[in-house]
Amino acid sequence: MSSDAGRARAAIRSPQEFFGYVPGDARKLPSWPQIVAYFRELADGSARLHFADLGPATEGQPFIAVTIAAAETIADLDGYREIQRRLADPRSTSPAEAEALIARGKTVVLLTCSIHSNEVGSTLMALSLAHALATGDDDQTRTILDNVILILVPSLNPDGWQIVHDWYTKTLGTPHEGTAPPTLYHTYTGHDNNRDWFMFTQVETRHAIAGIHHRWHPQIVFDQHQMGSEGARFFVPPYIDPYDPNVDPILQQEINQLGYAMVAELTSAGKEGVATAIIFDAFSPSRAYQHYHGGVRILSEAASCKICTPITIAKETLREARGFNPRVAAANHPLPWSGGEWTIADIVAYERIATLALLDNAAQGRERWLRNFYLVHKAAVEREGPYAFVIPATGRDPGATVEMLGALHFGGVEIERATAPFTAGGVRYEVGTYVIRLAQPYGAFAKTLLEIQTYPDLRLYPGGPPKPPYDITAQTLGLQFGVETAQIDHPFGADLRRIGADELTVPQAPSVGAPSGTALLGAEGNDSVRAINAILGGEAGAGTTVARLTAPWTIGETEHTPGTYVVRDFAATALVALAGRYGLRLTFAPDDAPAPQEQRLQMPRIGLYRSYKANAMDEGWTRFVLEEYAFPFTTVRDADLRQGDLLDRFDCLLLAHQPAREILDGNSAREYPAEYSGGIGERGASKLRRFVDAGGTLIALDAACELAIEHLYLPVTNILAGLKSEQFYAPGALFRIIVDPTHPLGWGFARDTAALYINGPAFEVRTAPGEREHPAIVAHYPHSNTLLSGWVLGPQHIAGKAAIVELPVGRGRAILFGFRPHFRAQMRGTYRLLFNAIYRSGLA
Ligand SMILES: [Zn+2]
Repeated sequence: MSSDAGRARAAIRSPQEFFGYVPGDARKLPSWPQIVAYFRELADGSARLHFADLGPATEGQPFIAVTIAAAETIADLDGYREIQRRLADPRSTSPAEAEALIARGKTVVLLTCSIHSNEVGSTLMALSLAHALATGDDDQTRTILDNVILILVPSLNPDGWQIVHDWYTKTLGTPHEGTAPPTLYHTYTGHDNNRDWFMFTQVETRHAIAGIHHRWHPQIVFDQHQMGSEGARFFVPPYIDPYDPNVDPILQQEINQLGYAMVAELTSAGKEGVATAIIFDAFSPSRAYQHYHGGVRILSEAASCKICTPITIAKETLREARGFNPRVAAANHPLPWSGGEWTIADIVAYERIATLALLDNAAQGRERWLRNFYLVHKAAVEREGPYAFVIPATGRDPGATVEMLGALHFGGVEIERATAPFTAGGVRYEVGTYVIRLAQPYGAFAKTLLEIQTYPDLRLYPGGPPKPPYDITAQTLGLQFGVETAQIDHPFGADLRRIGADELTVPQAPSVGAPSGTALLGAEGNDSVRAINAILGGEAGAGTTVARLTAPWTIGETEHTPGTYVVRDFAATALVALAGRYGLRLTFAPDDAPAPQEQRLQMPRIGLYRSYKANAMDEGWTRFVLEEYAFPFTTVRDADLRQGDLLDRFDCLLLAHQPAREILDGNSAREYPAEYSGGIGERGASKLRRFVDAGGTLIALDAACELAIEHLYLPVTNILAGLKSEQFYAPGALFRIIVDPTHPLGWGFARDTAALYINGPAFEVRTAPGEREHPAIVAHYPHSNTLLSGWVLGPQHIAGKAAIVELPVGRGRAILFGFRPHFRAQMRGTYRLLFNAIYRSGLA
């Protein structure tokens, strides 16, 4: 019997008493501060809860976690964390010791809600669930409390909750009720915020990893989502193929049994429309951190209503998608939904049944969960091959090497450095070379991120269209960062020393030449752009000037390539300190050296177009990267483009990846107030044309190229436009591109590099009569060996076609990228193509 429930029950208000309504009531949505206040009150009143504020989210809302267990467990959380830590490292925990720990331990379950902030059901459910666990005394509650430690994150995106709350309450009772807010619900990433689980660029991801995952090593992560309204009512695993082969088979089976445990409870409760094995695969580490850290990641997806506003759907209008028909009973969908009204209360009810079924399974199977957790880690530390990845410290861009290793280290990967030269795979490596041996607890995480992905050729039927992957099909970090990594399959001897995060710093590169009035800085690394932007911002002195070489310049024995930065009129101490911060080498040119060929570089006035569409994520990522690299820019809205006068305000306008139709049309005027609907329209498009004609630079990425091609009348064709998916399909793969390093957009690049390509345009350029200059193909896909990692069907269709083109238009120019050079703040190796394109309009 409970010793604490009686005291707790007296002190604790129910959500209804606290909020004045039951969470899940139609048209009721609490604010984030109210939610935080309720969890604080619960924790103050119950010894079964522990409240933690892990720090501010991006826009400052508190990111919180509530730990729920029996009061005796809560009183000894450190002790239970130690059990988890020891089970997670079988190198120092023998099987006999593990059995003793398993006898004492609890199953640790992390429940994460509403990372996608308009999917509000799970947060509402969590309020009532926490209250029930804090106050309940029935057998099931008792069993869960005694055997499970539940860490509840009421929202993985608290800023976004508040954005949705404010928009929903503002539009309640208007024609716009229930629409998505006309903005990204995460400042930078919007709906992509659950694609950050290996690069960890966002504050919220880092809170969750450092504050919860690495402290608790959960056996089960349950991540609750919502999907469209017209398919199944509810999805839980099994997942469909493919699984990333790096997910341990034990975890795959645990996922299946847990999914079926939830389906069974939902079906017993009469809940219709529950489907397994549809749509959602398990291939991408960006979405499933725990699959590589000893636990399972369970996804649930409820059909959405309109935030908290009910909808009505007739069964006949449910839609077949990706091979699943929600109207038809099937082995993976035994009880189709009858149709009718669908409410937030329905979503909360399904999610609550599923959560209790999961917690019950975690409790009843406590020993099995812990033993399997140990076994998965044991298999990881006993891995036989491949043996290691070897990463030289002195690559083309040492800053990128350190950034890449920093991401792996943050993800729990152990990194070593050689203290003496060694030979591996027939190649000799120097002292200081990084080595990641894969026989370690999170070796699977390192392996999936460092190896080349092979994705199976899956079709809807033989010879038919491809089955779309749920996310992209490649993540190979060495390609994404442009860092040399060598997979070594067999053991080799080397003197290695494990390093910590504080040792992941760029090596210092001493200056060359006697200090003089002219300093050269290479353009091969991203950090050179950080330094140049700091210099342009006055950090090396107010009068400092920057130019870029337009032809090779030989000083002493060294030929400095086109694109090299030439810095003059600097304060020497400040410049040397700045170079030192990033480990960049300065070369001082003798004052009597012949004058180089160069162009002055000034920071252009940059405009970044931002749509009111809720799903325009690439703009958010672009904004994030520009801020990271200290590019000053102005956000440009539909009205600015329609107004015109663009050349008075900007040298360069940037259209991030977004379908042309969405840029032109924006949100529907039926759904949104006038200020958030309508897009740039034909008028905005003609103002863009005038901007470029008069001398501006327009940069368009991926799908936005179509707008530039059609409305600037560019002599370019997207040669992939008419192809069916069974002819050409590349839903996210790493492709080789051949870059022209003599063109200002290719300055600082090696001749070939990797680009992340997602079914974007590929260009064929025609000659335009009457233009002063010819179009330039800055990068193209090779005629063979295009695919570096991931999946492509019909690569011959893109062979030899242009990936980046620069076209003169009137007195200005258009620059088209057929891929996204800074995709999800991951593609560090192609950031500088975008940066070069921006600088292009600042060269004179
Ligand atoms: Zn979602």
